[in-house]
Amino acid sequence: MTDFSKSRAAFHIPEGTVYLDGNSLGPLPRAASQRVASMMDAEWGEMLITGWNRAGWMAQPEDMGNRIGRLIGAETDSVVLGDTLSIKVYQALAAALNMVPDRKIVLSDTGNFPTDLYMAEGLISTLDKGHQLKTVAPETVADHLTEDVAVLMLTEVDYRTGRKHDMQYLTLLAHSKGIITVWDLAHSAGAVPVDLAGTEADFAVGCTYKYLNGGPGAPAFIYVAPHLAGTARTALSGWHGHDAPFAFEPNYRPRPDIARMRVGTPPVVQMAALEAALDVWDAVDINDVRTRSIELSERFREGIKSNCPSLELNSPKNPAHRGSQISFRHPEGYAIVQAAIERGVVGDFRAPDVLRFGITPLFIGERDIDRAISVLADIMAQDLWDQPRHKRRAAVT
Ligand SMILES: *Cc1c(COP(=O)(O)O)cnc(C)c1O
Repeated sequence: MTDFSKSRAAFHIPEGTVYLDGNSLGPLPRAASQRVASMMDAEWGEMLITGWNRAGWMAQPEDMGNRIGRLIGAETDSVVLGDTLSIKVYQALAAALNMVPDRKIVLSDTGNFPTDLYMAEGLISTLDKGHQLKTVAPETVADHLTEDVAVLMLTEVDYRTGRKHDMQYLTLLAHSKGIITVWDLAHSAGAVPVDLAGTEADFAVGCTYKYLNGGPGAPAFIYVAPHLAGTARTALSGWHGHDAPFAFEPNYRPRPDIARMRVGTPPVVQMAALEAALDVWDAVDINDVRTRSIELSERFREGIKSNCPSLELNSPKNPAHRGSQISFRHPEGYAIVQAAIERGVVGDFRAPDVLRFGITPLFIGERDIDRAISVLADIMAQDLWDQPRHKRRAAVT
């Protein structure tokens, strides 16, 4: 059994804060500051360029890929780290489209995170081969899996509603029609159990700064099913994906494995922070996290329903159909979230009217949930959100 009091103690949460935004940026693992400082001093400082070999910097994208792989049910040596999620979406989609050259449709849903759709648009215009991005309502995806679709590109858990696709079912159905699948696990990794190997997913991508707590700017990950990794053609043929980067050959020759998805120099300082975050995950069973997340999010949903009737549930009511976040709608959502933040309850707002709360059992417990409910109840009962300072929009919401 996972000891959640121990995992909670592993994070720095500012005094007086109930942090319900770990789905957007996970909090600081206490060990990360020391780990980054010692990487700076002992590795960068003392080893200088020899750190690439002596401190293992060069192998980190694969080594740490395996640690993340464990959390998402991936086979050994099928995950690699690097770049940002937007870049990894581009690479995965490019490789997938290349596997079905005679089909032209990329199918996604209207709830997908915009950058995934933007990257698809950009790739399609770069390829200039007549591809088309088709987005349909999330609940109708299965109906649109027809034999002219090249790639199904979905985010498993919707960033606004928390709605969770049935990844196993959709992957099977897609494969039966010859469609390649690209799954974005941004809101799944560290939030819900994922079984990439069992699902037989083709490609998956995700970020490490949300539920995994790797810190702002932590590198993304990409998974390629082992039977595809030796042939997947990445659109971004950088030298770190070359079979012999230090041979400095004039032409690109990809590595025969997942490491071909590497592009350029990895973010070594950021990797140190991520390492500290993954140490916390080593003592955690993701199935326990899921059970706890459902208990806590049901407590929150019921508490808001009784105490804040004007906040309309914007997530599936059945917790089996949600990821680890829950959201509500209200026309004054932005101001309500600001008023809650001022009172130490940190959630976030997503346009146009969504109040979003991440339920992250590694560092959130019943007391936090109860305090969040009571703060929101006061804000709604007394219209505490109705202040000009709560309505001024900041650049990041
Ligand atoms: C958070 C998130 C991203 C962010 O992409 P970055 O390139 O890391 O900024 C992309 N896609 C989804 C689905 C996300 O939830």
